[in-house]
Amino acid sequence: MTAELEDYRRQVRDFVERKAPPIAPKAGVRSAENADELALLKTWTRDLFAAGHYGGSWPAEYGGDGPGYRLERDVILGEEIARRRAPAPVQGAANLVAHALIDFGTDAQKSAYLPGIRSGELIFCQLFSEPGAGSDLASLRTKAIRQDDGGFRISGQKVWTTNGQWADYGYLLARTCPEAPKHKGISAFIIDMRSPGVDVRPLREMTGTADFNEVFLDDVLVSADALIGTVDDGWRIANSSLGHERAGVASNAVRLQRNIEALYELAGTVRRGDRFALDDDAVRDRLGELAASVDALSALVYASLTRASRGEQRPHDAPMTKLMFSELGVEIAAFALELCGEAGVVTGGACAVDNGRWQDEFLYARAYTIAGGSSEIMRNIIAERGLGLPR
Ligand SMILES: Cc1cc2nc3c(=O)[nH]c(=O)nc-3n(C[C@H](O)[C@H](O)[C@H](O)COP(=O)(O)OP(=O)(O)OC[C@H]3O[C@@H](n4cnc5c(N)ncnc54)[C@H](O)[C@@H]3O)c2cc1C
Repeated sequence: MTAELEDYRRQVRDFVERKAPPIAPKAGVRSAENADELALLKTWTRDLFAAGHYGGSWPAEYGGDGPGYRLERDVILGEEIARRRAPAPVQGAANLVAHALIDFGTDAQKSAYLPGIRSGELIFCQLFSEPGAGSDLASLRTKAIRQDDGGFRISGQKVWTTNGQWADYGYLLARTCPEAPKHKGISAFIIDMRSPGVDVRPLREMTGTADFNEVFLDDVLVSADALIGTVDDGWRIANSSLGHERAGVASNAVRLQRNIEALYELAGTVRRGDRFALDDDAVRDRLGELAASVDALSALVYASLTRASRGEQRPHDAPMTKLMFSELGVEIAAFALELCGEAGVVTGGACAVDNGRWQDEFLYARAYTIAGGSSEIMRNIIAERGLGLPR
């Protein structure tokens, strides 16, 4: 972090302080709970793009920084959003589709979707996972069959679709060639979520909120221009767009640092027998251990980002930070809830500790050990590609 970047950090911190939407902080990445929250998140996304804090990795002709792009700026933005416990902008899936379009889309597709993503108006969801295809995504079964007019007829079921209930469009993977080896017969599409045959059913999670959905696709007809890139090239397109999501891990480390700070405060206010939890040596030892682990995570994240910015990233770098962040998050939340004692079961009213924050953190934390590749899959990659162990 140079002086110039620290100066940028001050600007971003000030911006986040002034513009972050007034939505109560929650653990993790969550969908809008109602139309008012959605409107606030759209404005937040628009403001971040307009100020140039978001979308820097886009080419200059589409409003990004072009060759002047610096990964550190994305890292700083993510960190400052996490530090303020402000919500993530609504555009997770839109970021993926934007990169798919920038790298593989036609000019008509770019001008149809990119401005709406920048203005926060168009909401996208990611229609990749299926009931039988998550870790092994390439085994997906949703079919897209070519029609005489060049369009496609799409049928299948998707699941865990974040923001599906709000999305205008879906970034979809479907099988176009059932005879080809499983990674080869997949194509990428943009589908209008309001098309006849699309049925979105929100799933209420144990946190009490509905952040993702089941999506049923029943003979959905799309025209030829819904296809991104060429037929059967969807696996490469999906992997390339996922590869643009590197800066997020730094914000996750800051998220845990904030939780450690809050944990100190919590231990200073809740009691264990006749004294504050913080006065108990066992509590202090555990706190120290968790704080040291979060510092180690931070160091690992910066080492990984430094390698990435030099083009020297190793296949196991991101899995190591993802694994450590998500497993540590579960441990911290579990310890916090333990400190809350019986009061940890209530989320409102006079007895609730920190307005139920720790229960929400505890219930959500496990989602991070699954989303974006489960802990077992991360361990497999580290073992096979990092340590050279046999499959
Ligand atoms: C909060 C959240 C948001 C999400 N949002 C989206 C979204 O917007 N769009 C989308 O498409 N998907 C989304 N997902 C889905 C996510 O990508 C999948 O949940 C993830 O890839 C795991 O797949 P699965 O749930 O099918 O589990 P499975 O792959 O069925 O795994 C089940 C268990 O088996 C283990 N396992 C599987 N394979 C192996 C192996 N080879 N070796 C060892 N263990 C293995 C896993 O670790 C896991 O414990 C989201 C998930 C979460 C939790």
